[in-house]
Formats: sequence, structure tokens, C-alpha cells
Amino acid sequence: MIYFDNAATTAPFKEALQTYMMTSERYFYNTASIHQSGKDAARLLEAARGQILDLMDLKNYDLVFTSSATESNNIALQSMLRRKKPFGKTILTSELEHPSIVNVLEEMKQDGFTVKYIKTTESGTVDLSHLRTLMDSDVVFVTVMAVNNIIGSVQPIQDIILILQDYPKVHFHVDATQAIGKADIDYNGADTMSISAHKFNGVKGAGGLFVRDLATLKPVQYGGGHEYNVRSGTVNLPAIAAMAKALRLTLSEARLVNQRLKDYNLKIRAAVKDLKAVYVQPKDAPYIVNVSFIGAKGEVVVNALSKRGIAVSTTSACASKLATLNETLLALHNSDEVIEGSIRISMGRTTSEEDVEQLITALKEVYEELGDVLK
Ligand code: PLP
Repeated sequence: MIYFDNAATTAPFKEALQTYMMTSERYFYNTASIHQSGKDAARLLEAARGQILDLMDLKNYDLVFTSSATESNNIALQSMLRRKKPFGKTILTSELEHPSIVNVLEEMKQDGFTVKYIKTTESGTVDLSHLRTLMDSDVVFVTVMAVNNIIGSVQPIQDIILILQDYPKVHFHVDATQAIGKADIDYNGADTMSISAHKFNGVKGAGGLFVRDLATLKPVQYGGGHEYNVRSGTVNLPAIAAMAKALRLTLSEARLVNQRLKDYNLKIRAAVKDLKAVYVQPKDAPYIVNVSFIGAKGEVVVNALSKRGIAVSTTSACASKLATLNETLLALHNSDEVIEGSIRISMGRTTSEEDVEQLITALKEVYEELGDVLK
């Protein structure tokens, strides 16, 4: 199978798998145990934490290890909002967020919060002037993703931080799940930030929540309090050690990989440009190309490509089982037909020129095959 679904998940680096295996064998101990082996495991955990904070250049932050970005987002949103309630009830977010943000905010509405959406520009970024007009004394929380998982647009995180400087009681959360190695973003100034190892060629089961002031967080699930009394449960040391390794490798090769993916991105765009039914979404981070077969269903295109040995996704793996129209594409004012016919092609570090050639050939074949269905 030629894999073009890297925004859903990525293949682990061999080195990350080796770290995972080695840590599982030699450091399987519980980092909370006070015997020597537990202490050795705890030392390894702290080394991984320090490395990740250094690599992300977030030296004044703490890092809470979690199981996934979904968990990190939940901790940041649920715990902060509980604390913020006496100070205001308005939450601002973009129209582009992942379900692990949107669905928490929906739940928060039941608790009396008001959620307002910052408008989206034509290039798929948050409209900063609209953000400014939404800011008032009732706003306590702003959450915006760093890179969008459907079209790859890169959000102006530092511009948002600058605007929020005038509102010290506002907590700013960034979901950076899709951004690691894809966009060079400075997160200093955000209050919390989420990452997930399996999106940057680590192994599944490890995520992180970077926190500017640990004292502001409350647990959302109670137990032994392993991670700074914020997150309970025996830590997944092998996956965390592998995450530190994957992060180092990802960041060290990012410039070269992105240059290559940029060329491939342009190549795919050029190839579909002349097909009348195909509409290509705006983009920023080069690893995603979103293409619509207008008149067809995205699912049909995904299956037709799958039969040819090519894996792409409809909108996102998490949402592809839901029958609703994709919200990112709606925010960009696409017609229902464009959204229904859209597929997401997402490349990664192992994508080769030959893979891209085969994808282009298959896209053209599927286009011909769909024939009269297309408009
Ligand atoms: N946030 C974004 C933007 C994502 O794309 C995803 C996964 O697709 C997540 C959060 C959830 O990540 P995880 O699979 O680690 O829970």
C-alpha cells in the first residue's frame, strides 16, 4: 500500500521502535516505585522530559506526559475552564478545530459557557481582526490549533499571543498536534500546548501537554497523581522515551523533508489543475493536499484509490465515520458538493517521488472512471 494518510498517523522511525523495545526490556519498572530500578526508570523519564522541552525551545514550561493529544486537549480545556468560571464565561475558538477540542467545548456549553467562533480567512487562517472584535472582559479562554489537519493551513500563533497580551486573565491553548516538524512555530507565550507522538513518527500511546504555570491546572481524572498531580496513571515510559527520540529525528530532518514535500505538493496540484471537476483547497504546510471530485462522494474516491493500492482519507480519520460535512471545509465557504467529494492526501517523511507519480496516475484513472458522475 502506498501511504498518503500521514495526517491520520505516521510510521514510527526504526530508532524510535528500538528505543521503545530497549526501554520496555530494561526499564519496564514503574517510575513511581521507590526502589532503585524505579528510580532508574524515573531518571529516564525526566531525561526524556528535559530533552523534549529543550527541543521545543520551551525552557520556561513544564511538560505533563499524557497518552495522546486528545487527552492533553481535554486536560487543558476541562481543567482550566473549571478554574476560570468565576472570572468569565466566554470561550473563543477557530472554526477549524479537531473534535478533541470542539466536543469538549460543546460539553462546556452545558456548564454555562458561551462559545464564539473566530472567522476564517480565505487562506484557512483565523481572522485576527475578528478575534480583536470578539475580545471583551467576559473572555477567559482562547483555543486555536497550530496547523489544520484538513488543509494544512498554519495559524498565526505569535500574532494571537500579541493580541492576548492585553488580556492577562485569558488562558491561551494551542493544539499543535499536526504542527510538529511541519511548521516552524514559536509557542512561547501560549499557556498550554498539546502534542502527540504518533503524528511525528513516534509510537502510539504518548502525548504531551506543555504548561506555562502548572499551578493553574486541575486533574480531570483522579488517581495516584503521577504527572504533577495533574495526570494519573502509570506513565508509558517506553512510548515517552520513543517520543523524545522521534522528536529529535523529526526536527533534525524537517527542513529537508519539507522542501521535498513542497515539490511533491506542487506536482500534485499541477497534475490535477486541468481536471475540470477537481478543486484544490488553499494550503500552507506542504504535507497536505486536499482535492475535491465534485459530484462524487469522497468515500467512493478513497475506495477507488484503495483498490489501486493507495491509501488516502476522506476528511480526517477521526471524522470519516461521521455523516456530517467537514467543518474546516465549511468554514472556507465551500459548497456541499465540494465538501462531499473531498479527499485528503497527506504525505510524510517516507513519501517518494515514485509514490507521487503513482498517485497522480491513479487520480487521473479514477477521474476518468467516475466520468458522468462528475460535474
Ligand atoms: N488534534 C489534531 C489537530 C489532530 O489532527 C488530532 C488527530 O488527528 C488530534 C488532536 C488527536 O490526536 P490523538 O490521536 O493523539 O488523540
